[in-house]
Amino acid sequence: MSDIIQLLPDAVANQIAAGEVIQRPASVVKELVENALDAGATEITVNIKDAGKTLIQISDNGCGMSPTDARMSFERHATSKIRSANDLFCIRTMGFRGEALASIAAIADVELRTKQTDDELGTFIHIIASEVKTQEPAGCNNGTNFMIKNLFFNVPARRKFLKANSTELKHIIWEIQRIALPNPDIKISLFHNGTVLYELPQTNSRKRVVDVFGKSLNQSLVTVSEDTSIVKVNGFIGQPKFARKTMGEQFFFVNGRYMRHPYFHKAIMKAYEQLLPPDTFPSYFLFLELDANAIDINVHPTKTEIKFENERDIWPIIHAAVRESLGKHNVVPSIDFDQ
Ligand code: ADP
Ligand code: MG
Repeated sequence: MSDIIQLLPDAVANQIAAGEVIQRPASVVKELVENALDAGATEITVNIKDAGKTLIQISDNGCGMSPTDARMSFERHATSKIRSANDLFCIRTMGFRGEALASIAAIADVELRTKQTDDELGTFIHIIASEVKTQEPAGCNNGTNFMIKNLFFNVPARRKFLKANSTELKHIIWEIQRIALPNPDIKISLFHNGTVLYELPQTNSRKRVVDVFGKSLNQSLVTVSEDTSIVKVNGFIGQPKFARKTMGEQFFFVNGRYMRHPYFHKAIMKAYEQLLPPDTFPSYFLFLELDANAIDINVHPTKTEIKFENERDIWPIIHAAVRESLGKHNVVPSIDFDQ
């Protein structure tokens, strides 16, 4: 008889975990920009080459990391955001799994430059495929700068299945939209091969929607505002006559986090029932706020699927809020009001 089970080396475990968290260049952008938000940044710049296949650079003016934390940040399950299982029930940060940096560093060439405001020198770390090549003190700006090169260089199957640059870039733009919309107070810029795609100034919520999707949307938007003990629903919906044949301007956020929610989507479609031209979709940008302990974010590594304790109570609240806004703007006959 011989024993055959072994613990996998960290680099291999990280590479496996990366398969779930990092599907494409856009996943790297999402994870790093979310880290910048959690670090309290007010300004985030994303610089991409070849749709992220050759370079993703993200810099922020957030809190930066100490030299020890800078090194620790690449360890799997290493996080400053939760300390115990109890914390999982009331997450207030975008991250908490401590997986992103370990995953990214397992499948790319990563350079980190980071400095905390009170320190004179910052830290430079260079990691390739989980192996630290360099760690040294370095002059850097306050905040954090990540450069991710050659993503998936050691995972040929993944690299081969990346889509054309135009498609990968579209995914990156979607991620930036999902982060920009609920964070209008943060300046966010996106450059691709040296061209500006977004330069979003600090502004209010409505103006941010318009900055992201274009001025023509402004005339279409109607405000939604509802405050109940279970949930607050704020945001904007498009007037039915401006509905489009393609989707792409339908956004739900919960506590500042983008989510997909087909069930709540139906609440909105129902509210628009009979007001829409056939086969069209209204724009909506709805920001839900509720107790952090009434939702479970930890359903999937990318955290876009979220479980609600009171899903069935929230549905009619969203439906009514949308219906009321449409009514207030004379889009629906007022008799329909209290349906
Ligand atoms: P998580 O975000 O789930 O904690 P990550 O792997 O994304 O896990 O990051 C690990 C840790 O590294 C974070 O908890 C945080 O302390 C630190 N960190 C990552 N990015 C930044 C950043 N841009 N600024 C400051 N600290 C950061
Ligand atoms: Mg993170």
